[in-house]
Amino acid sequence: MAAQVKSQESTLSESWGNRTKTIAVLGSTGSIGRSALEVISASQGALRAIILVARSNTQLLLQQAQEQRPRLVIVTDPKAAAAHSWRDLPLETELRVGYEAVLEAVSADDVDMVLSAFVGIAGLRATWAALEAGKTVALANKESLVVAGSLITQLARKRKAQILPVDSEHSAIFQALHGGQEREVRRIILTASGGPFRSRKLTELASVTVEEALAHPTWKMGKKITVDSATLMNKALEIIEARWLFGVEADQITVVIHPQSIVHSMVEFVDGSVIAQLSPPDMRLPIQYALYFPERRPGIARKIDWATAMDLRFEPPDLERFPAIRLGLEAARIGGTAGAVLNAANEAAVECFLQGRLRFDQIVPVCAKVLEAHPFDPSPDLDAIFGLDAWARKEVERWI
Ligand code: NDP
Ligand code: MG
Repeated sequence: MAAQVKSQESTLSESWGNRTKTIAVLGSTGSIGRSALEVISASQGALRAIILVARSNTQLLLQQAQEQRPRLVIVTDPKAAAAHSWRDLPLETELRVGYEAVLEAVSADDVDMVLSAFVGIAGLRATWAALEAGKTVALANKESLVVAGSLITQLARKRKAQILPVDSEHSAIFQALHGGQEREVRRIILTASGGPFRSRKLTELASVTVEEALAHPTWKMGKKITVDSATLMNKALEIIEARWLFGVEADQITVVIHPQSIVHSMVEFVDGSVIAQLSPPDMRLPIQYALYFPERRPGIARKIDWATAMDLRFEPPDLERFPAIRLGLEAARIGGTAGAVLNAANEAAVECFLQGRLRFDQIVPVCAKVLEAHPFDPSPDLDAIFGLDAWARKEVERWI
């Protein structure tokens, strides 16, 4: 793990030099995509977005194309693409439509890196295509690893393609792993802010409204991941993500609540030393770390103000109120189809909650029921994964 991180670093730095790094930004209109374009715009030409992809926010995509002047923009939803006028698209920018266009685009010779930042399982095939083409993938779409971690990491090894974490916790762990050798790692400590309901009683969680769930105390993110942060399902998905990304066992992963979101995660080594990464909660830092890797450069992310007093608190999670953590550890332990089913059930349940058809405190129990009822397969292929994904979504509807 740590040794692997170091060898990746030396090969990359030898080959990189001062060349502009070209990036395909999948999900450019989302929260991660927009932050990534800020980092790219501030890079003084070191980074360049040559492909921008969105599903349906054509207005923002057009505006981004005018600013970034990519060679290609892709709208994956054909209806949205047809409903918009593309007259003002820069002359050098080609427009393509449909998800299949993404699969072809990410493998183009002039793409150095793919930022995979679609939301949900929609990111899987795109991440897959990028790795298949041997591209370095800056991975925000944690669902790719949650759903198909075993297959994705095998593919990356086979194609010698790198996966660089964008998720702040995993970026922190990746950085902390530089502090020792693989065999010296005792455990990974994933921090969680605890979300907006950290101090609420179990009985009060039943009445949580959509508006309350979407008001995260420390991070500003897309809707789905914001709800996941409130149920702590985001941490469950991150446990599975860490399991695959760093090749650790589930029982080497500990979750700790840290309300300030300053310590983004830690690695404990066998001698008891704990190495952490600290910075204010600002996704532009882990994004820029991945985009510039293996270098560090001055950046636009907020910095810690050491002239102001601050407290850092750590507490164990309350598994009674937030059973998602237990579910995440269990899914990471059993592997196989568990991650795919948990992810699909959660995506469907969150959608139902946002539509007002499911109570907040029912999201995780519904996921647990669907996970328990599913026909477990220890080593599924991609088809089996997509099949179970569809099955789990239908099951959620049935439970509701
Ligand atoms: P958003 O909902 O803000 O953005 C999602 C992006 O993906 C948009 O550009 C959207 O296009 C596009 N998209 C959505 N569905 C599809 C689809 N079916 N096909 C193609 N494109 C699609 O999400 P976030 O930016 O918050 O999250 C993106 C990923 O990053 C998620 O996997 C999340 O878990 C992860 N992540 C996010 C963090 C954050 O701070 N936001 C932190 C850590 C991880 P359109 O706008 O046109 O709908
Ligand atoms: Mg995270």
